[in-house]
Amino acid sequence: MYDLGVINGRVFRNGRFSKLNVYTENGKIAYVGEEIQACEKTIDCENNMLLPGFIDPHVHFSLKVGEFVSADDFVTGSKTAAYGGITTFIDFLDPIVHEDELEKVLMARKEEAKDACVDYAFHATLGNFKGNTGKLVSLCRKHGISSIKVFTTYSESNRQCSYDVIEELMLKDITVVAHAEEDSLVDATWKDIKNFEKSRSIQAESTAVLKLCEIAERTRGKLYIVHVTAGTTVMLVARKYAKLLGEKIFLESCPHYFYLSSNIFNSKEGGLFLLNPPLREGKEINKMRKSIKSIHSIGTDHCPYMIAEKMKYDTADRVPKGIGGIENSFILMYNLFGNDIIPKFTSVPAKIFGLETKGAIEVGNDADLVIFNELVSNNIKETHSRCDYNVYAGLKVKGKLLATIIGGDLIVNRDEFFDRKGRFIERG
Ligand SMILES: [Zn+2]
Repeated sequence: MYDLGVINGRVFRNGRFSKLNVYTENGKIAYVGEEIQACEKTIDCENNMLLPGFIDPHVHFSLKVGEFVSADDFVTGSKTAAYGGITTFIDFLDPIVHEDELEKVLMARKEEAKDACVDYAFHATLGNFKGNTGKLVSLCRKHGISSIKVFTTYSESNRQCSYDVIEELMLKDITVVAHAEEDSLVDATWKDIKNFEKSRSIQAESTAVLKLCEIAERTRGKLYIVHVTAGTTVMLVARKYAKLLGEKIFLESCPHYFYLSSNIFNSKEGGLFLLNPPLREGKEINKMRKSIKSIHSIGTDHCPYMIAEKMKYDTADRVPKGIGGIENSFILMYNLFGNDIIPKFTSVPAKIFGLETKGAIEVGNDADLVIFNELVSNNIKETHSRCDYNVYAGLKVKGKLLATIIGGDLIVNRDEFFDRKGRFIERG
């Protein structure tokens, strides 16, 4: 007898929907087919979509920057994630400058994450790395970490990693996750909130992105660029590196770069919207929407701070950077792109990041599922984040997430929450 039956869903597999029943056993998908099976508990999808659980490869829970800590810890962050259909997130380890520090930062972050209710993994993160990249990659692999984050900027906080180190990494068996902005073109001391966009220009982004792509082309390395902000950048990469895009070079963007424009910095509440890299003008949003085929994965860069913290200082250099969005991410992107967005939340990030048992409704995979009604209309309200404002509040969207199932556990069902423990996922 199966543990859970999720029946009468329009099941999304390989880009198509079929009317099927899914049964789980010991946290795994154990049957997908047309028959009705014996099981302990049944959820009826009532002909709504049944999708693989979503993956957010870019979040920052309990991120300490200066005097501030991001508003969501792993408990509240994973809860707001579950309400958004996110069943796996990838957060980051603290930056290290030598491979000897890896185990310590991994243990510390695992301890912080242990009460997360959804599954999780971590990218290793480098500061101004001075160690041995070969040893680092072996250590990461030993601990089930298949991606390393680097920054080409943030020299002011000693987090900038040299292009030489990045090139060494790309020659090895690991995915290089890059925050790409050319450091010499960034002004980290920028004070004017109204014109904050100018502190980190599109040119700063595209210059670093193209340099990294050139390294990836030369080394045949695997490169994943986080939070691309501008359609212009995406188009440049798509033109110059068409053959490598989706094979060796992957681009991530975030819902805010598709919805929010830099005009908002010029409002009374501009400070609430400050983040790095900044929002762009409306015309870039349009270009971004046109370039969706060249974007492989949607990360939220979820990193909100409380209103009082965002408004504490009135110069941009002192405002903590970051906004939330994990709970609304899928709905927002679904509203723009329909079913084409589903793989970018599921199978594609699973493949890029070695989440071997995630991203597809197939027997043997983790039983991570989302029931989604794409027809009902809603206004976005406050979320289950601890943060006291939502940058998307009031937006009218179509579609509602009805239920989230992780490892065969029903965690969210029609707005009700049932706590559980997530697992650290070792990646291949
Ligand atoms: Zn980030």
